[in-house]
Amino acid sequence: MAPAQNPISSQHVVVIGAGAAGLVAARELSREGHTVVVLEREKEVGGLWIYSPRAESDPLSLDPTRSIVHSSVYESLRTNLPRECMGFTDFPFVPRFDDESRDSRRYPSHMEVLAYLQDFAREFNLEEMVRFETEVVRVEPVNGKWRVWSKTSGGVSHDEIFDAVVVCSGHYTEPNVAHIPGIKSWPGKQIHSHNYRVPGPFENEVVVVIGNFASGADISRDIAKVAKEVHIASRASESDTYEKLPVPRNNLWIHSEIDTAYEDGSIVFKNGKVVYADSIVYCTGYKYRFTFLETNGYMNIDENRVEHLYKHVFPPALSPGLSFVGLPSMGIQFVMFEIQSKWVAAVLSRRVTLPTEDKMMEDSSAWYASLDAVGIPKRYTHKLGKIQSEYLNRVAEECGCPLVEHWRNQQIVRGYQRLVSHPETYRDEWDDNDLMEEAYEDFARKKLISFHPSHIL
Ligand code: FAD
Repeated sequence: MAPAQNPISSQHVVVIGAGAAGLVAARELSREGHTVVVLEREKEVGGLWIYSPRAESDPLSLDPTRSIVHSSVYESLRTNLPRECMGFTDFPFVPRFDDESRDSRRYPSHMEVLAYLQDFAREFNLEEMVRFETEVVRVEPVNGKWRVWSKTSGGVSHDEIFDAVVVCSGHYTEPNVAHIPGIKSWPGKQIHSHNYRVPGPFENEVVVVIGNFASGADISRDIAKVAKEVHIASRASESDTYEKLPVPRNNLWIHSEIDTAYEDGSIVFKNGKVVYADSIVYCTGYKYRFTFLETNGYMNIDENRVEHLYKHVFPPALSPGLSFVGLPSMGIQFVMFEIQSKWVAAVLSRRVTLPTEDKMMEDSSAWYASLDAVGIPKRYTHKLGKIQSEYLNRVAEECGCPLVEHWRNQQIVRGYQRLVSHPETYRDEWDDNDLMEEAYEDFARKKLISFHPSHIL
């Protein structure tokens, strides 16, 4: 998209959420000259990375009256990506050798990610833009502007007008619970990974974990430390799959998906095996949900597709006043937030123009049709997988910011391969020292680190 000829304009923008996406959105918007207010429900920045030992009262999070716990982080969680590729482009996520309390591992714990986001907020004075303990309860377009209702934890309500709203509220809080035939009469305990914190409650139990991607692979191994047996049900596996996996207590199996659950406590897998289980843990993902958003029918969530959205960011009929940062699922989350935020900031200042509403609708319809044509279900619309770097480069080109570094893309590809092939060891053993070297040399060349790369390598 060519830069616009219009004069640069400064807008009064509200950002919803102070997780990684909201923080970098606030920074990019204010760098572009906008005035920014960030409304955040929690008491601190960090979003998902603020670990809480408390889980929701309903372990499946189905009860609409439950009190929401935002984070889905469990106690043992370490990042599923090498830290070099995870950080923002000009504030690398590198070990802090000046502070012994910090976790210097390449795949650090969730506490280190929270500490990094706090460092980022401090470095760019972002907290001064944030109104903490303030929940956005309603957002609605009025006469070309946006009316935003919020409520503080003390019960004080606000009703304000903004030129634009950037939604950064996260999408790992509303569980997707897979349906299992017969589950209504199955007598055991059920919990979604959103409410999983520690393995203790599963001591000596027989546990079925549904899902074998990042959380399922981690949580099944965490529980296997204390449980009698753990059985993973994997939809991605062939129907005859039945394999013992290497863990210290020799008590972990992988099966194909579940066929039926019965009232005698048995669970029958598609491979014909029968397990009498005490608990089921659903690691079956999350749903998009924006309870506060009222768009008069312009937007819709259909089978977990948020539609229509131009390049996963701008709803054509409501652009540029409404935008979403952080919707797609992909490896390089923080960098995606940063590039999408630069685009939003540049469009709002009119440095960059969007296509017409019709053209944006055409573009998003063409994207949906291309998914349909190859049989990709709607629910995977925002899972970008292999096309993530192509997507990011397209958005980067829209706003004229640098393309994603080669080493970063390669670290994602090779890190993912290791995650799948060596789920037990991928965080502590790796074969991409060449890419790590490239990353640290890049940081040093750009003067983003204060130590010599040889300190790490
Ligand atoms: P969040 O961090 O969820 O922040 C959203 C913020 O919005 C929250 O602070 C919330 O309180 C606030 N909010 C929500 N609704 C409202 C409202 N109505 N009013 C006011 N405030 C509101 N990514 C990686 O890069 N590396 C990893 O290793 C990794 N591991 C992960 C592990 C798990 C278990 C999960 C679920 C995700 C993981 N991710 C990982 C992806 C992770 O979600 C992103 O990295 C990122 O932290 C999400 O940031 P966000 O700002 O979009 O959302």
